[in-house]
Amino acid sequence: ARKFFVGGNWKCNGTTEEVKKIVGTLNEAEVPPQDVVEVVVSPPFVFLPLVKSLLRPDFHVAAQNCWVKKGGAFTGEVSAEMLVDFGISWVILGHSERRLLLGESNEFVGDKVAYALAKNLKVIACVGETLEQRESGSTLDIVAAQIKAISERISNWTNVVVAYEPVWAIGTGKVASPAQAQEVHSVLREWFHTNVSPEVAASIRIIYGGSVSGANCKELATQPDVDGFLVGGASLKPEFVDIIKSAT
Ligand code: 13P
Repeated sequence: ARKFFVGGNWKCNGTTEEVKKIVGTLNEAEVPPQDVVEVVVSPPFVFLPLVKSLLRPDFHVAAQNCWVKKGGAFTGEVSAEMLVDFGISWVILGHSERRLLLGESNEFVGDKVAYALAKNLKVIACVGETLEQRESGSTLDIVAAQIKAISERISNWTNVVVAYEPVWAIGTGKVASPAQAQEVHSVLREWFHTNVSPEVAASIRIIYGGSVSGANCKELATQPDVDGFLVGGASLKPEFVDIIKSAT
């Protein structure tokens, strides 16, 4: 009974013209209804106003990041309060590109998730291992440590979607196999069962990200613990509509 969730993470891409084109395609798409699939697109900050004004009302908008606490003298940052003030309902936090390129630690990501939730944002919280970590056999320890740092700081998971995004699969075309994704998703769900509650384990959505495409989404979507996708490259293309349709 977990509602399928499809997020489009546009990352640092797009021009005004391209954004209008992507939104135009989404607005015309025939997709399953809102009670079957929840669709959230995440443009760069500067395009949030444009996307919010143009996008169909049954799709939602996410920021790709926000500051860890209340705004103030933090040059270059955007606060959770600003997103709420602007009517943005979702934020992506802890993306591997921010963890690895910008040095965001498990603790810092946990603090951000807690602050954003406290300000009534819904959070797509990302976890995932690098190739080196997978090859050394530490995948499950790595994702458990990432999720634990969040769990230590929040008590209500209602407004959280967890995105499992193996770093080696992001932007590489090397998608995790359905079995590889299912293994980590089921271990994460088991972690919630043991460490949070059976109710949260049963209800929390765990979505997969990393080279998801129109061609591979259907098989991944059939895995019992894969509740949707966080899509990068393909979310900029018309095939994002096919990925949304994999909900049914
Ligand atoms: P790609 O779909 O481009 O591999 O990116 C995945 C991702 O990082 C989504 O957040």
